[in-house]
Amino acid sequence: MTDTNNKRHTIPRPKLIDKDTAPHSGFGAGSGDTEMYTYSCACGKGRIIEYHDNIPGFRDHTVVMSCEECSEKYTIDTSGGIRNWTLVHEDC
Ligand SMILES: [Zn+2]
Repeated sequence: MTDTNNKRHTIPRPKLIDKDTAPHSGFGAGSGDTEMYTYSCACGKGRIIEYHDNIPGFRDHTVVMSCEECSEKYTIDTSGGIRNWTLVHEDC
C-alpha cells in the first residue's frame, strides 16, 4: 500500500455520470457506432470525456480532461488502453 519511493501515484477513477452510444452510418466502409462516456473529474468541477468511434476505416479512441484545475494536477495515463485509463497525480 505504500510507495514512498514513487511520487507518481494513481488516484481512484472518478465516477461515470453519463453514457451515450449512437449508431453511425459510417464512411463508406460499413456502419459502426460511437460511444461517449462522461466522468466527473477529480475535483468535481469539470469533466473527463472518453470517446470511441467504432466505425470501419475510422477508429478513434480518446480521453480528454476538461478541467483546468485537474489538468494542472493530473495526467491521464492510457498505457493500459484507452478504456482502462487512470488518473495519475504527480507530486511536486
Ligand atoms: Zn477538476
